[in-house]
Amino acid sequence: MPEHSPADLLDLDRRHVWHPYGPMPNRQEQLLVESASGVRLRLAEPAHGQRELIDGMASWWSAVHGYNHPVLNEAAHGQLDRMSHVMFGGLTHGPAVRLAARLVEITPGPLQHVFLSDSGSVSVEVAVKMCLQYWRSVGKPAKQRLLTWRGGYHGDTWQPMSVCDPEGGMHELWQGALPRQLFVGAPPTEFDEAYARELRETIARHADELAAVIVEPVVQGAGGMRFHSPEYLRVLREACDASGVLLVLDEIASGFGRTGALFAADHAAVSPDVMCVGKALTGGYLSMAATLCTSEVAEGISSGEVPVLAHGPTFMGNPLAASVALASIDLLLGQDWQGEVKRIEAGLRDGLGAARSIEGVREVRVLGAIGVVQLDHPVDMTAATAAAVREGVWLRPFRDLIYTMPPYVTDDDDLATICRAVCAAAREG
Ligand code: PMP
Repeated sequence: MPEHSPADLLDLDRRHVWHPYGPMPNRQEQLLVESASGVRLRLAEPAHGQRELIDGMASWWSAVHGYNHPVLNEAAHGQLDRMSHVMFGGLTHGPAVRLAARLVEITPGPLQHVFLSDSGSVSVEVAVKMCLQYWRSVGKPAKQRLLTWRGGYHGDTWQPMSVCDPEGGMHELWQGALPRQLFVGAPPTEFDEAYARELRETIARHADELAAVIVEPVVQGAGGMRFHSPEYLRVLREACDASGVLLVLDEIASGFGRTGALFAADHAAVSPDVMCVGKALTGGYLSMAATLCTSEVAEGISSGEVPVLAHGPTFMGNPLAASVALASIDLLLGQDWQGEVKRIEAGLRDGLGAARSIEGVREVRVLGAIGVVQLDHPVDMTAATAAAVREGVWLRPFRDLIYTMPPYVTDDDDLATICRAVCAAAREG
């Protein structure tokens, strides 16, 4: 194959490569990344005068330690020399077993069993299958529906799409074809007793048909970047227990420290029956996610007519990903990650405060290492992205939102630059 120039690559990209939510042929402008190190993406060609961009998105919540980290590189290299992948049916290996044991150790107490998959969406599919199969196995086959709150996002495969926000969201196209689930309104930011009552009553009213409640705890991500009181998790836990409904927490975005607690459920000291993690699990290096469940769920499934969990992806338990995930967890927990997330939270509060006086800004909100500026109009993505790139920062605005969830290793100067870029995007978007 001939060497491709950056222009050739971009041309091929436009003609052949689908990007997330992208048209074909691809008419969107793409920046060609040559390498990434620390918090910076290095571009093959300058864009708006910049060759390097601080990644204000941490690769969609995942690159918490930054790129090209020596510890994670070493974990990947070391494992690569031993075994990059082997089927998981009938075979097992140290990296996956050690990772599963570590996840059991650091997640809320009752979670004991781990299914390792290859993406967040699949981990949610697995969570839903666990819940539905549990109820079939214990003789309550009518309990097959899910309840969630509006404004959520759980992935782009079929079951996860059915519990994403059904209105104005990314999956409106599929309404009518997706399984029909139950929705209550999005949780208010502050604790609201009337809303909590509605949650309790809806769960109780539909207990006979409900397999599980599934929600994103404390932060709703791609459905709107909204935060809510952890108190609602306690309400859900009590209501689910009272009605015999399983509670699934989707910690794919919120897990591994992003909200200031290791898992968002920890803010409320709540344990779910089933929990999904992904994204930052491998520090953003490799595609891996996990679904954890309690012994009660596992034993229920095992007592059924089909006593196995009928799911088995080819790349299940990938040893490379598992080794890097272990190294990433050790790296995170071996440092004062809470201090770092607090430092970022303070920096975002300081730096994004200035956005409040920008015309067209409706709200500025910060939680942990997440900063959000919401406009009173749909953002002009091209203009807003260009404004951020001119400041030397990579952001990915959507709908009426300009937001950042930087790597935890972002230093104060770079954080200030990110905040300036968010403000510039809000001004020009
Ligand atoms: N759940 C949540 C809360 C997410 O934020 C995402 C990804 N944005 C997913 C599920 C789906 O994960 P993936 O993109 O890895 O399939």
